Order: sequence, then C-alpha cells, then structure tokens
Amino acid sequence: MKKILFYNSLFWIFPFLVYAQVIFQTPLSPRIANYKIDATLNTREKRIDAHEQLLWKNASDVPVTELQFHLYMNAFRNRKSTFMKDVRSRHRSIGLIRDRVFGGIDVSSIVLNGTTDLTDRIEFIRPDDGNVHDSTVIRIPLPAPVQPGKSVTLDIDFQTRLPKIIARTGFVHDYFLLGQWFPKIGVWQNGECNCHQFHINSEFFADFGVYQVNLTLPQEYVVGATGILLDENLSDSLKTLSFRAEDVHDFAMTAWPKFRREERSVNGVNVVLLYAPEHAGNVERYFSTITGTMDYLGKWLMPYPYPNLTMVDMPLYAFLSAGMEYPCFITCGSIWNFPQDIRLFPEEVTIHEFAHQYFYGILASNEFEEPWLDEGFTSYATLINQGELDSYRKAYIGKPNLDFVVKPSWKFELGGYGTFAYDKPALMLKTLENYLGKETMTRLLKAYLARWKFKHPKTGDFLQVVRDVAPETPENYFEQALYGTEVLDYSVVNVSCDKVTQSTGIDSGITRYRCTIDVRRRGTFVFPVEIAGIFADGDTVIVPWDGKASYKVVTLTHDSEIKAATVDPHQKIWLDVNWTNNSKTIRVEPLAIRRHWLQALRLVQQMYISVFSF
Ligand SMILES: [Zn+2]
Repeated sequence: MKKILFYNSLFWIFPFLVYAQVIFQTPLSPRIANYKIDATLNTREKRIDAHEQLLWKNASDVPVTELQFHLYMNAFRNRKSTFMKDVRSRHRSIGLIRDRVFGGIDVSSIVLNGTTDLTDRIEFIRPDDGNVHDSTVIRIPLPAPVQPGKSVTLDIDFQTRLPKIIARTGFVHDYFLLGQWFPKIGVWQNGECNCHQFHINSEFFADFGVYQVNLTLPQEYVVGATGILLDENLSDSLKTLSFRAEDVHDFAMTAWPKFRREERSVNGVNVVLLYAPEHAGNVERYFSTITGTMDYLGKWLMPYPYPNLTMVDMPLYAFLSAGMEYPCFITCGSIWNFPQDIRLFPEEVTIHEFAHQYFYGILASNEFEEPWLDEGFTSYATLINQGELDSYRKAYIGKPNLDFVVKPSWKFELGGYGTFAYDKPALMLKTLENYLGKETMTRLLKAYLARWKFKHPKTGDFLQVVRDVAPETPENYFEQALYGTEVLDYSVVNVSCDKVTQSTGIDSGITRYRCTIDVRRRGTFVFPVEIAGIFADGDTVIVPWDGKASYKVVTLTHDSEIKAATVDPHQKIWLDVNWTNNSKTIRVEPLAIRRHWLQALRLVQQMYISVFSF
C-alpha cells in the first residue's frame, strides 16, 4: 500500500516537484487539514518565524461560518493562562516556567483564499473556563460560510517564541523540541468547532491531513521530524530541510547539533534514532525494543502504516521533553548506564510512546474530552508488551473510587488523571481480556482499529464494537468500570470441612468430606467470578458464580479434605482491589509468609543494584 517516490535529483531542476511527491497513492485518511509551512528556527533567539498555508475542507454537513485555531504556545505566555493556573493541582509536574523564559505565539496576518485579509477579525475565546488571561484559542468569523464539501485556503504569518522546555516543548541550551508550535485548526464536529483551551492534563485533538514543512536553521543542527526528509538545500551557514508527512494530524520536530543518528529498517519501516552521544550504550536497547514492539503491535492490531518513525533520546538536561508521542515521532529518553534488567528506560517509555501511534495516532480520539481512549489503551498495550501490571494496580487500589474514567482531562484533580486515564482503564481492559480470552480480545481490538482507523472514535464507538464482537461481555461491565465509582472486591471469608461417613446404602462405611466455602462480595462492583476448592488429594474443583448477590456459600463433597479455597483462582480480575483476601487455607501456611519475605529481600537487592550501577 505505501509507496515513497523520491525525486531528489529532479528537485534541482524542477523545484515545484517537491510538492508533487506522494507517500500514499491512495490517501489513508479524509485529509481535512493540510499544511504547508515554511519555518525558520532562529536558534540564538529561540524563535520560529513562519508562513503557514492551510488548505482546509469542510467535511461536516453544515455550512461553517467561522474558523477556530489552537495557539498552544500561548499557554506559556504568562503565569495566569489556564495551563499555568492548573500547574499546582494537577497530575503532571512538568508545567513550570523556568528561569522566567516565557513562550508565546503571535499571528501577524491571516488571509483567506489569497485575497481577503482576516487579520482584524481575530478574536480570542475561552470556551472552557472564560479565563481572560488565556489566549490559546482564537476564532475568526468568515465573510461567507464555507459550504459542506468545499475548501478554503488560509495564509498565516506567525512567530513562535519558545519557552524553556515545558510540557515537552521548547528548548534547553541548543537542544530544541518543537511540538505544538504552529497555529492549528480545530475539528468541526456535530455542527460546532471542537477547539479546547490548552490545559495541563489535556493533550491534543486534530484532523488528519498532509504536512509539507520546510525548516531553515544553522547547518550544524541534526534534525528529526514527523515527516520523511525529501530534500536539503544549503545556503551560507544555513540549510533548509523539506519534510513531508501524509495522513497524520500533527507535526513535531527536534534539532540539536550533538545528536548522533542511527538509521535502520525495522519491519520495512525506516526507523531513525537520534540520541545523545553519552547514551550510545543504549542504542541496541532502543532497536531491540522497537523491533519487538512494532512486530507485536503490527500483528495484534494492524501493521504500522507509515514509512518512517523517529525516536528521540535527549541529553539528560532536556529530560523534561522525554515521553511524548507525535505522529511518526516519539520522544523516549534514557539514562547513562541504566540497569539492563530494569526495563523502564528506554524500554517501557519507548513501548508506551510507540503504542500511541495506534491509540492517538491512527485512532485519533479526543484527548481533551476522553483521555482514557488514548492513555488507557496505550497503558494496556504497554503492559501487554512488558508483562508488567503491578505498578498500575498499586496506583489504582490506593484510590479506586475517587473518580470516573470517562471525563474531560482537565477536570481531574488530586492525581486522578494518572489513575483514571491510565491505570484503571489498563486494568479494566486486561480484566476484560482475561474474561473473553486472548483470541476474542484480539479480534475485538482488530475490529476497533479496522472500523475507526484515521477517524475520531469516541467511547460509545468502542462500546459498539464490543457489543458486535464480544456480546458475551458481562452486562454493566463498562457502566461500572467507565462511568461508575464501583469498587471490585471478592473474598473468601471462611473455609471449613466436616467428615461424613455414610451409614446406609452402597457407599455405607465410606468416609467423605463435606466442605464449605463462604465467599463475600465486599465491593459494589458486580462481576462473574470463579470459586475454587483445592483438596488434599490434589483435585481442584471450580464453581462459577455470577457475583451478583452479596455472598455465596459453596458446599463441596469430596473424597479428601479441603486444603484451601480461592476466589478468582487464576487471578484474572485485575480490577479486584484486594487480592490478599482472595484465599483462605484450612490451616496456617508458613510458606506464604516466607514468600513475602523473599519479595521484600528482592526489593532491597534491586535498590542496591540501582544505586550502585550509577
Ligand atoms: Zn501516554
């Protein structure tokens, strides 16, 4: 499907050809917002001067009378913006204006269809909170409506002043991470423009399109971007790099003179790693991680559809730009001599950010309004790759009923964003996978991708896929897990056994045991569970229970005495907030305590490894 045509040599003779190159012969997406941007990065002044030409199509079914744009960089214009006001009470500790270096973006001119100057019509709006100090959204009333199916061209001159790295954008010394650096049009949906202000927890939401970006900067800079590099022109001490990306909804870049560059083909994708020289020892870790992840997600969901991927490993002083996803471009991050057996840097971060290429990139859900659709699915995909769920559970069980999952990102407080956009959805999806089985879950996810790729799915759209593909999903599962604060906790409260000797009939004189297991539903979350009796002769008897009543007494008659009873014996229910009450033995088992001691020792050992490896 994908085809890249390079005309580098022809470009010198026919410069217009650079705009004629195509990546996908058949577009993958509706291509609603298409950008051509000529940008100059002034590395001394930490400033971008640019001209943007936007070709925008009204893909809705109503005439559009105004346009709205995100000016994200204005979140760092002052300390009273909505983003900066939220800094203290929210999840991310990356929202500090450092060294009084403010950012900002100014639109100096906007012209419609090459003729009508709209600059005087620009008006700041604050649709979310009315904060007059926030200037992250503008609206521009149009002289005439854009009819459904029609397109307009907007020529925009703008200047972006970069802050010291904040919310994974900006500069430190001569390192640059350019994210959310240009005026970006909002998404028309249901007869209105969806264009939220920039909040501390919220990420982004935009339409797909084609990006043609020319970046001019000093020649010594090594650059990476969302797009593929089509051409490079040198003049005096500067160079202009021409990038193109198709069927993406954002465009990010990085530039640093000291980057080292490693380029390899992974599953047919051109993967570029830009890394800090001191992290050379991590290059193989990056490539083995991305090879495994691309392979796994390609089979599990759908093959990665783009021809390129850039991974950014920044110097330690720019670590605040680590861990961010943009289309075909992820910032990872590693630390010199990080222990090999702790798969956090670079492994877990790389897996997480690459998984976002699906849950955010290809499935372009609204990160403002339903962050669980990108972060929750991505966390689930990460743990499937990593095989590591404990940290998610640890975070969730501390405050399982604090909040709901389906909620706008900026409305979470008290750390709820991390727990309810990331952790709980991951545990919820893993629990669903265990209930349905791996095969059904894979079919479900494949169907979700197939139905909603290169579109804007909402929670209801995913639930419709569940109803179609896995109707056996317990009723009310999502109502409880996504929209409710119900807590799931089943426990065995007692297990006992009586000897019964048959006095009459064919079994006369045979001794059997009548064993009783007393199970309670301690939480308000109802979910089907299994109850297991484990017997001295090695037999295990499993009894299913719909989990609806507040308790269940299971009586089992067996040839040998019961040793133990467990609810959810295969530990399928990751949403269960207390696993320590899931089983009871008939006698005290010292082995269990020894196991906890061993785990504690392992933790101490790990701590020493971490400390002394540096
Ligand atoms: Zn994420």
